[in-house]
Amino acid sequence: GSVMEKVLQRRSLRMRNMQRAWQESPEGKKMLGFRKSLPAFKENERLLQAIAQNQVIVISGETGCGKTTQLPQYILESEIESGRGAFCSIICTQPRRISAMAVADRVSGERGGRPLHQTVGYKVRLEGMKGKNTHLLFCTSGILLRRLLSDRNLNGITHVFVDEIHERGMNEDFLLIVLKDLLPRRRDLRLVLMSATLNAELFSNYFGGAPTIHIPGFTYPVKAHFLEDVLEITGYKLTSFNQIDDYGQDKMWKTQKQLVPRKRKNQITALVEDALNKSSFESYSPRARDSLSCWTPDCIGFNLIEAVLCHICRKERPGAVLVFMTGWEDISCLRDQLKAHPLLGDPNRVLLLTCHGSMATSEQKLIFGRPPPNVRKVVLATNMAEASITINDVVFVVDCGKAKETSYDALNNTPCLLPSWISQASARQRRGRAGRVQPGECFHLYPRCVYHAFAEYQLPELLRTPLNSLCLQIKSLQVPSIGEFLSAALQPPEPLAVQNAIGFLTSIGALDDNENLTSLGKYLSILPVDPKLGKMLIMGAVFHCFDPVLTIVSGLSVRDPFLLPQDKKDLAGTAKSRFSAKDYSDHMALVRAYEGWKDAEREGSAYEYCWRNFLSAQTLQAIHSLRKQFNYILRDAGLVDADASINNKLSHNQSLVRAIICSGLFPGIASVVHRETSLSFKTMDDGQVLLYANSVNARYQTIPYPWLVFGEKVKVNTVFIRDSTGISDSILILFGGSLNHGVQAGHLRMLEGYIDFFMDPSLVDCYLKLKEELNELIQK
Ligand code: ADP
Ligand code: MG
Repeated sequence: GSVMEKVLQRRSLRMRNMQRAWQESPEGKKMLGFRKSLPAFKENERLLQAIAQNQVIVISGETGCGKTTQLPQYILESEIESGRGAFCSIICTQPRRISAMAVADRVSGERGGRPLHQTVGYKVRLEGMKGKNTHLLFCTSGILLRRLLSDRNLNGITHVFVDEIHERGMNEDFLLIVLKDLLPRRRDLRLVLMSATLNAELFSNYFGGAPTIHIPGFTYPVKAHFLEDVLEITGYKLTSFNQIDDYGQDKMWKTQKQLVPRKRKNQITALVEDALNKSSFESYSPRARDSLSCWTPDCIGFNLIEAVLCHICRKERPGAVLVFMTGWEDISCLRDQLKAHPLLGDPNRVLLLTCHGSMATSEQKLIFGRPPPNVRKVVLATNMAEASITINDVVFVVDCGKAKETSYDALNNTPCLLPSWISQASARQRRGRAGRVQPGECFHLYPRCVYHAFAEYQLPELLRTPLNSLCLQIKSLQVPSIGEFLSAALQPPEPLAVQNAIGFLTSIGALDDNENLTSLGKYLSILPVDPKLGKMLIMGAVFHCFDPVLTIVSGLSVRDPFLLPQDKKDLAGTAKSRFSAKDYSDHMALVRAYEGWKDAEREGSAYEYCWRNFLSAQTLQAIHSLRKQFNYILRDAGLVDADASINNKLSHNQSLVRAIICSGLFPGIASVVHRETSLSFKTMDDGQVLLYANSVNARYQTIPYPWLVFGEKVKVNTVFIRDSTGISDSILILFGGSLNHGVQAGHLRMLEGYIDFFMDPSLVDCYLKLKEELNELIQK
């Protein structure tokens, strides 16, 4: 021990010298000056004291006051200054990978810009910059949970910060259960919870009355304009319901928007009508009143956003604009529309940027940077920019009032991904983003009375998403009963939702009938993907058809690379079907498109290839890098060989690849019902489903397979399935998990036994024999 102790002491001294040298350098002084101007700085001493005296504290303070970048740094600095720098190890979690990376980069810069992974580092899914000298680590909450699986006591960690707890993300709520359980075992561990809103009580109570500290913020006043004012200011006229046509190009997406729960919609429309009859509206000009009477929840069109942006760029003082949109699809559509605009698309006057979960690092830098003089920065963002990312020079905010959130219908066991109204808390938060550096203005694109109809806070994620991955992770913490464990949450999920998740995990073979992890389940819990896709990957590896499966899994975890431009839907559909060659499979089409792209890249014609085939080069690139990362993890876990030709011995075998797709996507299956002139599709439980318009299978009048397997079904008011692949009865029997729908039990037991066998090296011989048998069966 004492040798180690000495090494650490020496390193601590070095850290102190370096810190002091930086603080005394001219740039260091300048940076310190900035840091001292943040509201958090005044609380520095109080915070250190509270953290020393209490195991848990809860801190609230407005976005931008310096919670994330400063508080963990205060601890680090004071430990370094007291000569114990090398002994401390601080972890700070973020809900999103992009903010973990951005914050680490920022903090490292504030500390003299030494390369990330020295002192300050980050770790996010499949990526990281972290070394043995890292003493402050920013990571996603998911990463910390994963670490807890293998290191239940967080040995060596001295401080844990859980950030953005007000968002009530699923991983954060999960973390709190685990940490609460850990604290009595690790009396020396310090836990700091950070929230951007004033609901600290809730968390403090959860931890038995932990002390709370509020950092009084500084924000400048922000003037709120609601739709009625916006129409007045811009002179824009809402014409009719059909303005939805200019909002979004994706067909599915549009259908979803039209079908936003009718009840809610009618309620809100009634509210507007009611308000229009009230005298409060009499102060508005006839034009605004007239316009407003056409308002429906779907009216927030791209054209209205364009009009607001034009107004700001023409009439308002300098300052960046932040536009809150619902998701990547509408951000990219709006960007395309704005690029064609004479003023907004002129790069000499407007710097148009986007900010979403999958943006490139180079774009990230631009978002924080200053635009050239006389150029206005306009950032189209998802609600990611609501709290975890601070863009300093924002003076104007445009708020469409919606966010795409997953909701979960436990009764139908179907996730719904719908843009829905944000909460009042979110709306306030969005507005606040305009007041960072000077008084700002916020344009809410919905009437004031609608704002008052918003829920006060958003429902915690734990209560509105399927719990499949979560339950798998809970199980790998060696928890005896998932239900009991989850009942200790801040707000426990419905028992039915928990039952559904356990049922699902059992059906894919990750849990046995007694709710114990199987060997497959153990592997799945270390793979950072959805359990279904993880299973597909493992099966692809074991059956030596790794490459195509790797492409499919990567594609399904990124997004669809096939584009569907509004005005060229037919051409795009035809282009996609060219990749299908009677495969009756969207997944195979993806594989072919990806492989074609790789070939085109080698020949230097990738751009042309994408353009001709309606493919997104950016998405293909993302799939490409995810493939590499999955490959690496599976090699690390010993599941694939270093020699690619061994892994792909059977990749040419189409029915095998189909079988592996089925093994992953099961129980997502629908039977193909042939009618006289049309096809219909029925799932086991839900009855009728429709195919997404861009599916290759939507183009056929007959399909020579009795079943389609699909990855995702989305409930709108009918249920849609996205990508699908046709499969035969024998594939379903052999690879379709343990469903009891007329499937021969003997076959099933063989397959299940098989899964257990191959995880156990001592049974490799049995496994090889079984594999031969299975291969023979499929080749028939
Ligand atoms: P909080 O976590 O309380 O919302 P942060 O610690 O993230 O606040 O940010 C504090 C301040 O640091 C911000 O208001 C901003 O001025 C500055 N800042 C944060 N990140 C960056 C960045 N990447 N580039 C420039 N300034 C930044
Ligand atoms: Mg923060």
